[in-house]
Amino acid sequence: MLLLDTTLRDGEQTPGLSLTPEKKLMIARKLDEIGVNVIEAGSACASKGEMEAIRAIANEKLNADIASFSRIIPADVQAAIDAGANTVCLVAPTSDLHITKKLKKTREEVIEITAKCIELAKSHGLKVELLAEDGSRTATGELLAHFSNGISAGADRVCVCDTVGVLNPEATHELISTLVKKLKTPVAFHGHNDFGLAVANSLAAYRAGAGELHCTVNGLGERAGNAPLEEIALVLSYFYGVKTIELTKLYELSRLVETLTGIRPGNNKPLVGANAFTHESGIHVDGILKCASTYEPVSPEMIGRVRRFAFGKQSGRQGLQ
Ligand code: MN
Repeated sequence: MLLLDTTLRDGEQTPGLSLTPEKKLMIARKLDEIGVNVIEAGSACASKGEMEAIRAIANEKLNADIASFSRIIPADVQAAIDAGANTVCLVAPTSDLHITKKLKKTREEVIEITAKCIELAKSHGLKVELLAEDGSRTATGELLAHFSNGISAGADRVCVCDTVGVLNPEATHELISTLVKKLKTPVAFHGHNDFGLAVANSLAAYRAGAGELHCTVNGLGERAGNAPLEEIALVLSYFYGVKTIELTKLYELSRLVETLTGIRPGNNKPLVGANAFTHESGIHVDGILKCASTYEPVSPEMIGRVRRFAFGKQSGRQGLQ
């Protein structure tokens, strides 16, 4: 199972967030150290700073593939090539809503320009992941046609984006299963958390045969954010024994991103929130002191954290002692 981290692209689309090339480089190094397979480092076409950031990250010669986000515009693809990215995440809207209302093109035009963009990237030796924006609100037949067209043009992977987070686990499983059965190319899933289902949907995609999941550190991203990297990695390991990244460095990575973005995960955020491994009530503290697994599903050390006890109205004698 591959993990594509898009903290530096979709994560940076968090309202109010802007990362300098230096900060992006620091996060990219840590993502690589922890073992993320693909780092989507930004959009080279967006600005000089973005181009610089991607170039600096690509120059590090990390183990991870370095991807640049690109619209279906040849100049965007050229910017990814110029930045030295070895992968392009080419995003084409596929729902009627996005094609007619936003792009104001016909489906035929989208198919044609998508193929041209893929051929341009492939002619420069880049890997191409073809993303279907709003793929979750696209008729399955149209989605298959779009992906088949991309694969014929040379796409190495295809990805369903649940752009506004409207899938549920059953629908995700059905959609990804169909695509995996019909396409010979690896299928990825990009989940958003508008209904709090991004991780559940990503797990369903994995169970349906997806070969790559998209995520961001601390679940950063637009609106309710993306599927959080730390949760995806831990639940894959906990429920299915799937090894992805170095789990013991997850908290360190989370804190680095918190510090550099200035965005603190909510106190009750799973795994990385301040209270995720904090115990206050007397009954719980007593249990934890006798045997930690009484009130912890996994030990905090598993993700590189330590347990904390708090004192308050519900504290008991055992905890105090
Ligand atoms: Mn997204």
